Amino acid sequence: MEGKCSEGPAIGIDLGTTYSCVAVWLNDRVEIITNDQGNRTTPSYVAFTDTQRMTGDAAKNQAAANPTNTVFDAKRLIGRNFSDPCVLNDSMLWPFKVTAGPDDKPMIVVTYKSEEKHFYAEEISSMILTKMREIAENYLGSTVKNAVVTVPAYFNNSQRQATKDAGAIAGLNIMRMINEPTAAAIAYGLDKKSSIVGERNIFVFDLGGGTFDVSLLKITENVFEVKATAGDTHLGGEDFDNRLVNHFVLQFKRKNKKDISGNARALRRLRTACERGKRALSSTIDATIEVDCLCDGIDFSSTITRAKFEELNMDLFTQCLQTVEMCLKDAKMNKYDVHDVVIVGGSTRIPKVQQLLRNFFNGKDLCKDINPDEAVAFGAAVQAAVLSGQGNEKVNSLTLLDVTPLSLGVDVKGDLMSVVIPRNTIIPTKKEGGFTTCFDNQSSILLSIYEGERTIASENNLLGLFTLSGIPPALRHVPSVKVCFDIDTNGILKVTAVEKASGNENGIAITNVLGSLSEKEISRMIQDAEKFKVEDERRRKKALAKNDLEDHIYYMKKALKEKEISSKISPGEMGYMQNAITRVLLWLDGNQNAEAGELEHRKKELMNACTPIVWLKLVMMRMMV
Ligand code: AMP
Repeated sequence: MEGKCSEGPAIGIDLGTTYSCVAVWLNDRVEIITNDQGNRTTPSYVAFTDTQRMTGDAAKNQAAANPTNTVFDAKRLIGRNFSDPCVLNDSMLWPFKVTAGPDDKPMIVVTYKSEEKHFYAEEISSMILTKMREIAENYLGSTVKNAVVTVPAYFNNSQRQATKDAGAIAGLNIMRMINEPTAAAIAYGLDKKSSIVGERNIFVFDLGGGTFDVSLLKITENVFEVKATAGDTHLGGEDFDNRLVNHFVLQFKRKNKKDISGNARALRRLRTACERGKRALSSTIDATIEVDCLCDGIDFSSTITRAKFEELNMDLFTQCLQTVEMCLKDAKMNKYDVHDVVIVGGSTRIPKVQQLLRNFFNGKDLCKDINPDEAVAFGAAVQAAVLSGQGNEKVNSLTLLDVTPLSLGVDVKGDLMSVVIPRNTIIPTKKEGGFTTCFDNQSSILLSIYEGERTIASENNLLGLFTLSGIPPALRHVPSVKVCFDIDTNGILKVTAVEKASGNENGIAITNVLGSLSEKEISRMIQDAEKFKVEDERRRKKALAKNDLEDHIYYMKKALKEKEISSKISPGEMGYMQNAITRVLLWLDGNQNAEAGELEHRKKELMNACTPIVWLKLVMMRMMV
């Protein structure tokens, strides 16, 4: 639901496949918010252990030790069916388990607190969104309810809806979802605002961890008009990592006669080393990949040259250029019409990708002024400020004209796709198509709604079905049925159909059909998310109480050692207090998982054991820190 809201600051979240980033409009500019580790981006990871759930850096840092319960790449699953070939392929490489759930929806299976738990990708994404929101709340010191979340421009209807569901589970009001390249273009446009005169055609090339998106935008004054968009929701840095992993799995097999392809822990560790190596290859010409005790005590060490890395991925790189060409063709522009090529997404740091792109645009310099990891969140924060009325005159007049990435239509006789809204139509939009019956006295029509570019309807992605009934008896082709497609600013579709003579009407919000979650499921997940929140709070309190008790012991020991104190207490009193400390330390050793209340109780015991002079010294020492 889009709208102006005055409550609290509104944030922009780039929900990435591998990393996420959050930003806010503050003091007339965008602030990229750092997380608790001081990082400006946060790994899109969630991990489950016997005692707790972790998100972000904490989850990624323990991935090698707990591979089967560390979930990442939820964005590659979201809005897809389990039987989707992409999902089946990915599942083979992921160390965590994915199975088919209700309606062929993929379910991630983990062990949490010794129990098997199943999660939808929406739930994992909602945990990441919650983390990003908490990062913002800690920084702003206030609660955050409203957010603009970005999605790949090439996300289809189900993927968009599923992302929206993830926001709802996280308790966020998603004011609007905007396309990632559009967000990057806003960041670019704002950066260059003073120097943009007249019209400028900007080509945004966004190659991230899991998705690839390109968009061609025309920027005139404050209007950002997307002319065309194209991409692949399943191409990015992780595919390049996969190629490296496969290369080294084969090498290891050849050398050691051992196949590690089914060994989740070994694969996870090798993948981490490969990703690190890949990053290094962006600045050096060769890299060493080393993993101690990769499998059965065998250490792995190998090198890879930049040239070999490029060879392993060349087909994927050239695939990117084909998409660039398609986007230009859709926008009815040629490459000479493009004023600037803006690169975003971590994988655009790969020199070969840059070189191919530069060559494609006949040697044009690529714009690297905006940070590729932060540009998308930056644009989302600007849009959040505009929608919440919190921006300044510099941004409030900004208008976004985005487009729909795929054609939408219904199937007609012979399984043909009759397009109602062609791809790259500016949204929001509402269009009508005229249809009729195929047989005499046909009283109802089953409408199948598809998205995609194939002329055979069933080869496209089926979004939903509904029946329009009560058509009065008439010869075939006589009744006139109007089917109306309505796409909102988030790119989400609603379809209605009406038969003219009877006025009978029926419709569906595509959101409520195939592949997406029902209201009931969403509210169940919201409750689950709340449960996690309560538990996280319990853990936070526990950690605070433990720190407090440990600090208390530390300062009490310190106080007892101070001459001015020890000289004023009797040996009996000293022994009594030292015994109290030893007792609590022993208790702590045996009760690592004690609850906050118990820890506080132990602290009270220690306080009671102190003589007034020690008590006073302790309080003063603690006040000084
Ligand atoms: P993003 O989704 O935009 O955060 O991009 C993350 C992807 O960029 C991951 O696959 C990273 O491995 C990749 N990446 C980040 N830095 C580099 C680099 N220096 N060279 C190659 N790939 C990189």
